[in-house]
Amino acid sequence: MTEAIVVETDFVPEILPPNLPDEACETDIATIPLASEPHLPDWQPEIPQSYLQLSGDELRERIRAARKQLGERLLILGHHYQRDDIIEFADFRGDSFKLAQQAADNSAAEYIIFCGVHFMAESADILTTPEQTVILPNLAAGCSMADMAQPEDVYDAWDDLSELVDTERVIPITYMNSAASLKAFVGKHGGAVCTSSNATAVLEWAFEHGDQVLFFPDQHLGRNTGKRLGIDPATETAVWSPRKVNGGLTEQRIRDSKILLWQGHCSVHIRFRTEQIAKAREEHPGVRVVVHPECPEPVVDAADADGSTEFIINYVRNGPPGAYAVGTEINLVHRLNEEVQSDGKTAFCLDPVVCPCATMYRIHPAYLAWVTESLVAGRVVNPIRVDDETREWARVALDRMLAIT
Ligand code: SF4
Repeated sequence: MTEAIVVETDFVPEILPPNLPDEACETDIATIPLASEPHLPDWQPEIPQSYLQLSGDELRERIRAARKQLGERLLILGHHYQRDDIIEFADFRGDSFKLAQQAADNSAAEYIIFCGVHFMAESADILTTPEQTVILPNLAAGCSMADMAQPEDVYDAWDDLSELVDTERVIPITYMNSAASLKAFVGKHGGAVCTSSNATAVLEWAFEHGDQVLFFPDQHLGRNTGKRLGIDPATETAVWSPRKVNGGLTEQRIRDSKILLWQGHCSVHIRFRTEQIAKAREEHPGVRVVVHPECPEPVVDAADADGSTEFIINYVRNGPPGAYAVGTEINLVHRLNEEVQSDGKTAFCLDPVVCPCATMYRIHPAYLAWVTESLVAGRVVNPIRVDDETREWARVALDRMLAIT
């Protein structure tokens, strides 16, 4: 393996407030020079000035050339919600867990550029060998949902709970969309990680090992999955508000709740409404409605089907001809629509406002060009490294999930 200079940066992405970033969506999914991006001041600032004015075509050429030089030493992974101008370079496309598995299965690649968000790159680092380096092109590409569960707040919640109930009987479950330190916390306390495709199996497992579940960070996935298992959202779940004493709940409510749901949500999936489903059904009689389980409970109830990103793709791909209204991220829906049109199908987004995942969108091709060309020059920019202890315990939580599903 070639020795590379590692350039660590001290840029720390901001913690997003709960209802940002895309309440008022200003993003466009066409490639514009990085300097023209309206939210550039909030993105990772270290990128050299020379990348700021490059056009989409110039960036494409430079990424292609750098990539060619690196050959099989480089693997580029692209999340389903990435922009088209990034996905075109992805060796593999998938959801967060599928991509982490791809990283783990490709031990020949020295460098893995993860075009997704921070927690995904951390998971890839945990599942790859110490010789491999995972790189996140823009360190400001976080996940607003993952940021809603700050590790200190979760540790405080656990302390509060331990004053009221026997935490030996409380199983902490964290969604994949969380910091590595929280995956490690869950591993240490007898819990597991889940994804949107295996949340039901993981919750079933949890109730075989305990009486209550603390589920974070996405309240909607926890509520919708619990309901699938017959847990009444109104009486048997409660929302835990971080930074409030006892989560803002009475002691009785805590004891009566089978699932304590962290007060977190996805800023993309929270946008979907039952009114949008009613409108789609009115305008497209016979339309099939499929949504992600990060959507609010009434939206999931009003849909014909709900499931993970991979489930949604297969639902449309394998379904009969006709119209499909989809409640998930717009980049994925656009690509899916292009793919299925020749089969007599149309897939459209339930949300009329074109609004990609604003943090995923921060992986602009200029950042991909920067980190790829730096590798050619022998410099590793933006490596994502999880420390050994965190890695060990997070791996326990991930392995438990794998054993369950
Ligand atoms: S779509 Fe939602 S959960 Fe996924 S990365 Fe974006 S903000 Fe996070």
